[in-house]
Amino acid sequence: MKIIVAGAGCGGLQAAKLLAAKGHEVTIYEKNTEEEVGFDWRDEIDYKLFADSDIKLPKGSYRADITHFVPTFSDNGIPIDIPKENRDWVVERRVLVKEMIADALAKGAKINYGMTVKKLILKGEKVSGVLIGGEKIYCDIVIDACGINSPLRKSFPEEFGITKEPGENDYYSAFRGVFDFYPERLPSKQRKKIYIKFMGQGGISKCICHPDEYADIFVSKLGRMSRFEFETMMRQLRIENQIIGYEMYFGGKFIKIPSRYPLCKMVAEGYAAIGDSAFMANPLTCQGVADSIKAGNLLAAAINEGGSASVRSLWKYQTDFFKQIGWEYFAADITKRFILSCKSEEIRFLLEGGLFTKDELKLIAQGKGIILSTSSIIDKLKRGRKKFKFVLALVTFLNKGKKATSLAKSIPAKYDKGKIDSWQKSIEKLYE
Ligand SMILES: Cc1cc2nc3c(=O)[nH]c(=O)nc-3n(C[C@H](O)[C@H](O)[C@H](O)COP(=O)(O)OP(=O)(O)OC[C@H]3O[C@@H](n4cnc5c(N)ncnc54)[C@H](O)[C@@H]3O)c2cc1C
Repeated sequence: MKIIVAGAGCGGLQAAKLLAAKGHEVTIYEKNTEEEVGFDWRDEIDYKLFADSDIKLPKGSYRADITHFVPTFSDNGIPIDIPKENRDWVVERRVLVKEMIADALAKGAKINYGMTVKKLILKGEKVSGVLIGGEKIYCDIVIDACGINSPLRKSFPEEFGITKEPGENDYYSAFRGVFDFYPERLPSKQRKKIYIKFMGQGGISKCICHPDEYADIFVSKLGRMSRFEFETMMRQLRIENQIIGYEMYFGGKFIKIPSRYPLCKMVAEGYAAIGDSAFMANPLTCQGVADSIKAGNLLAAAINEGGSASVRSLWKYQTDFFKQIGWEYFAADITKRFILSCKSEEIRFLLEGGLFTKDELKLIAQGKGIILSTSSIIDKLKRGRKKFKFVLALVTFLNKGKKATSLAKSIPAKYDKGKIDSWQKSIEKLYE
């Protein structure tokens, strides 16, 4: 088959490699130049990806430091004790992406840099190609790996039911910048701090010190973030972490990251979305590289096994993704929504007051939502007696996570538009 991969996102690249290896004619169109492709910073990537797949760990990667969660307006970082061998790898993103491109090309895929895919070409219900510049390029399948702002996802008419834009609670506006630091100022003993609702804003911010190298800063807020909100948080981060310098080595970009459950319809006739384009970043950790690559494996398998570009064949990719990976995002999204809607003193009560146990905090750090058992509900109601109303709200809200997870797992096994529409409606209602 003739396959177009729009955007050199990690999931698209993995699918490109595996499909080219099976003899399909695969062409990648990437809007950036060869030098610019991939981000220039280091990412934390699930350690299991490199152990369990054919992706090589790039040279120079190292294990992440211990996470410390810092609640709003607090000086206390709470250490999350995950053994070193189970911590993420810190990886140069650009190196990873370039190696993935080289692997895909070695298997026979082609890449065109500096070409922006504008929109899909639709013939009735079928996607039959893409528009690049003024040129129409036809193919059997378009793999949309263009990221969260994908113009392809947005080119579907309403009746396809494919969500065009994430809602205001469904993405983080994020700034990432890597700065020098003042060597004469002692770095904090807590090298990796994750601030929950920093300055009371509904987001997470990070200060990660790489001693003798740099300070890696991440500032985010759910939905839109004004320049004033960003600058206020950035200024306060510098006050609390005086080692952050003013020379920016890398990054400096404002980017959206999806922070919701995955797209309920990520396939159509001749079309499959992958990675951030299908909202495949974990709502709690903002990490999406490993899951996008795993999704690339599932997509290639569905296309190779199904042997066709039909929505029925591609639906197998979506069900596999939901059953193996995507279901975990549902409770994670509920947990994120609850935490980020709390008042500052409530967050301190959750984290410092011990309402969330150490094991629950570990789960949150790993991007897993909290699903309460009956015994943990009783325990929380006892421990939170002084704030009974708040604890009751917590229990009621988190219980939605259980319902959402079972809805995710009950994804229709076969492609049936009517059943899929009503499944999607039930999910959307739960998150309204
Ligand atoms: C600041 C920040 C920090 C992050 N940190 C981490 C982390 O530590 N660990 C982690 O696992 N994840 C992290 N993520 C998330 C991660 O980047 C994504 O979840 C993951 O890369 C999957 O996204 P993607 O590959 O689909 O999209 P992207 O990485 O956005 O790639 C999309 C590609 O498509 C290209 N493109 C876009 N539009 C077009 C078009 N119209 N035509 C042609 N090409 C196009 C882009 O140039 C880009 O190369 C972070 C994200 C951000 C923004």
